[in-house]
Amino acid sequence: MASNRTRNQDQILQTLQSLNREIAAQELYIYLQENGHKVGLATVYRSLDVLKQQGEIQVRTLESGISMYSSIQRDRHHLNCVKCGKAEIMDECPLHDLEQKLSPGANFKVFYHTLEFYGLCYSCQASEAEDDHSPCTESSVKPVNSGASHPSSPQSCC
Ligand SMILES: [Zn+2]
Ligand SMILES: [Zn+2]
Repeated sequence: MASNRTRNQDQILQTLQSLNREIAAQELYIYLQENGHKVGLATVYRSLDVLKQQGEIQVRTLESGISMYSSIQRDRHHLNCVKCGKAEIMDECPLHDLEQKLSPGANFKVFYHTLEFYGLCYSCQASEAEDDHSPCTESSVKPVNSGASHPSSPQSCC
């Protein structure tokens, strides 16, 4: 496909497409070095930014703040465990229909979307159940103000 991409940008796009997984910029930089592509880290960042704006790649930001880049063909969503940090991949995308509805309007050209779920994974749910005998402190909290400060509120005024 003819494009105004630089050789480095093409290289990075091809790498992301062939990797078929998410990768952080740092990791991608190391990967390129190991595979004989002499690209500076700043160039990797800049290229990723250009490719993102061209709608060729997508970005997902982890809770740690690290941006994970991947080829746009990947339409995957994650179920993130807030306890152990494990991320499971959803089998299908529930947003395809919605994206289709948005597209014909052309007021906004959709490149990709993100959707993340947070909760407890199967094994963490199991360990939660084992801890069940721990008392729930939330429900035993009594209201500090018992309401004794208003013996008889004078409602009439004027
Ligand atoms: Zn978990
Ligand atoms: Zn999706």
